[in-house]
Amino acid sequence: MLDSMLKNTYDEVLRRNPGEPEFHQAVREVFESLEVIQGRHPEYAEHSILARLCEPERQLIFRVPWVDDKGSVQINRGFRVEYNSALGPYKGGLRFHPSVNLGIVKFLGFEQIFKNSLTGLPIGGGKGGSDFDPRGRSDGEVMRFCQSFMTELHRHIGEYTDVPAGDIGVGAREIGYLFGQYKRLTNKYEAGVLTGKGLDWGGSLVRKEATGYGAAIFADEMLKARGTSVEGRRAAVSGSGNVAIYAIEKIAQLGGTAITASDSSGYVVDEDGIDLELLKQIKEVERGRIADYAERRGGKARFVAGGSVWDVPVAIALPCATQNELDADAARALVKNGVEAVSEGANMPCTPDAVEVLREAGVAFGPGKAANAGGVATSALEMQQNAARDAWSFEHTEARLTQIMRDIHATCLETAEEFGRPGDYAVGANVAGFRKVADAMIAFGV
Ligand code: GLU
Repeated sequence: MLDSMLKNTYDEVLRRNPGEPEFHQAVREVFESLEVIQGRHPEYAEHSILARLCEPERQLIFRVPWVDDKGSVQINRGFRVEYNSALGPYKGGLRFHPSVNLGIVKFLGFEQIFKNSLTGLPIGGGKGGSDFDPRGRSDGEVMRFCQSFMTELHRHIGEYTDVPAGDIGVGAREIGYLFGQYKRLTNKYEAGVLTGKGLDWGGSLVRKEATGYGAAIFADEMLKARGTSVEGRRAAVSGSGNVAIYAIEKIAQLGGTAITASDSSGYVVDEDGIDLELLKQIKEVERGRIADYAERRGGKARFVAGGSVWDVPVAIALPCATQNELDADAARALVKNGVEAVSEGANMPCTPDAVEVLREAGVAFGPGKAANAGGVATSALEMQQNAARDAWSFEHTEARLTQIMRDIHATCLETAEEFGRPGDYAVGANVAGFRKVADAMIAFGV
């Protein structure tokens, strides 16, 4: 239940943004956490900070026409929501997936504001993407789509304005085509306009690994706060994209064993721990399906078509696929099997009911805006290197990432404690992320 001030603002958000359930969910989750600051910070209400925060500063929707390999003209819709620039240029990824619509981009952009604030680095919040489905498209088709997308987007972005990166369906290949088109159109080698670039042309070491590494480190920090750690424990990971692959890698480096991976067709269980070389070969090189993994492990792994990866008994769960992939039933199954920590590698993968089940069971729950902040944090480190015309070593960059994740973890715990909700990382993340943005907005005036 929201108190009356928050409820009125929330109702207004529903009224102004009909038919956007994921966006409503993201806003509601933040508002529920902000209950604890009521009465302590009257200045936020005086300045109508919440109502202002929920309304994006700018929303762009554009047509993306392109020609497929058969010579037919295809039309997709492009989006960029420039949500909040109180702390720095808009920053956040681009998602290419058929499910993308304005509501999805707004939910992701809204989350990004608080996540980026939590990193402690000077980046505002934004998100974009398209309903384009890269699956089954040739390299040439993906290139022409990206070029057309950037033909419109280029006039809205820039190193000091808005800095996109990847998300689902957008990796180094797509960033390359997007950057190439930006460079062609502007006649500028403006490396800081996009992050997630290739290592030879302005990218940062560890950026590719950062989101997954960060989510695993966050799980380790949560367990350490409870006197244990990832070491010697089994983890279930969902997804098999960039986030999942490097979460699995870091779990292994921390002495744990990640035994699952999944895609939309089902999941695999490999009791010895996922064979990373094979998973990378199938997913990064061949762009294949997870069922191939079990086949090529020759009896060592089993593939389960459909079903829920959260039925596998583990101490740690890392949902790294997509929003609302882990529901209340899944949470109950995890709890029954003794899960100790859930660290969200994806954005909002746990439904509100699932979070409630985990909270009631006393499971450590790391919300995505804290647990997966390592990706965007390392994007900010890429921007630093670009601005300095520098390139850091893997060790240095990884050390920065690890420290940022530890700091975020500590900030969440301290803030939750300060507001009388010890151990509640969601309250800690939302309140800590919100306060910095709100204070900057007040400083800037209306
Ligand atoms: N898409 C990632 C996220 O959800 C990274 C964004 C970025 O690096 O700008 O945070």
